[in-house]
Amino acid sequence: MDALPEFEVVQPSTLDEAIALRGRHPESSLLGGGTDLIVNIRRGIVAPSMLIELNRVSELRVIKADARTLEVGSSVKVADLAAHPDVEQHYPVVAQAAKLIAGPTHRNMGTVGGNICLDTRCIYYNQSEWWRGANHHCLKTTGEICHVAPKSRGVCFATYSGDLAPALLTLAAEIDLIGPLGKRTIPLSGLYIGYARQDQPITESTGDGKYYLSLRPGEFVAAVRARNTSGLRSAYEKVRIRRSIEYPVAGVAVALRRDGDKLIDLRVAITGTNPRPVLLDGTAEICDRPLDDRTFQRLDDLVRDQVMAMKTTFTPGHYRRRVASVLVRRVVERLFAA
Ligand code: SF4
Repeated sequence: MDALPEFEVVQPSTLDEAIALRGRHPESSLLGGGTDLIVNIRRGIVAPSMLIELNRVSELRVIKADARTLEVGSSVKVADLAAHPDVEQHYPVVAQAAKLIAGPTHRNMGTVGGNICLDTRCIYYNQSEWWRGANHHCLKTTGEICHVAPKSRGVCFATYSGDLAPALLTLAAEIDLIGPLGKRTIPLSGLYIGYARQDQPITESTGDGKYYLSLRPGEFVAAVRARNTSGLRSAYEKVRIRRSIEYPVAGVAVALRRDGDKLIDLRVAITGTNPRPVLLDGTAEICDRPLDDRTFQRLDDLVRDQVMAMKTTFTPGHYRRRVASVLVRRVVERLFAA
């Protein structure tokens, strides 16, 4: 590990102060638990001159959860979200995803906002400065080529691997963004723009593994909110190489409702495969009928069409896609039978 470079740390105690600091210092980075950011600074991946630590801003540390709605501030610690009794009872998919993030020390430090905005990862990117330099920097940092797909014509395929996003996507969550130009609320799905399309320019709504969030300059996540649906059953599972601490090979969140022997509502979201968490399109078309082999064949087709796992991890892409398929089937079967 390299030594940390010099940077200034400021600790605002109100949201207004944090927004003003962000406006005055656009080159700053926001610090929650630092479990990802500090590693990236040490590796020379990013070099902010100022860190704005948000943990003292009480407005960002709120958890409100009951049978109808969930609201979580971005500075809430992952461990506190995982252990919240009302989240466990009414939003099990969120509590289970939080419990499976990294290891206990990371969960005690890491924040909800940090996990939602987790930087995309790649074996050519999450390396030391000298390693990346010796192998020619890739285009996610200062280079001009993608080592994963050298013919990608400027597109980065680094993988999004946050666990909370897929869980919250199955609940159709909204996100409050705040910054020097004010506050706005968007669907959480609108935050993730890592589509990695070679035929589309980078815009506020289409990006890749490098430009993976639709945040505007100076904006940051203030809170995430979701509504419950009566009768909804939900769960999260992931497969990782080292089960005690690791990013997912693939992680799957499922929320469904059944009426008698019919599946009447199905939402599936997948992480660890694409440059964004993927909320599967097309699940509504396989509802309003019994759960049978045809349903699982169709689900398998949806995963195969929409999961685009590239060689950005040591685990081959085709294996990660297969793991995602198996997890989808496993979690859907378990929830339907519960
Ligand atoms: Fe770099 Fe390509 Fe990996 Fe993106 S996918 S981090 S551009 S090597």
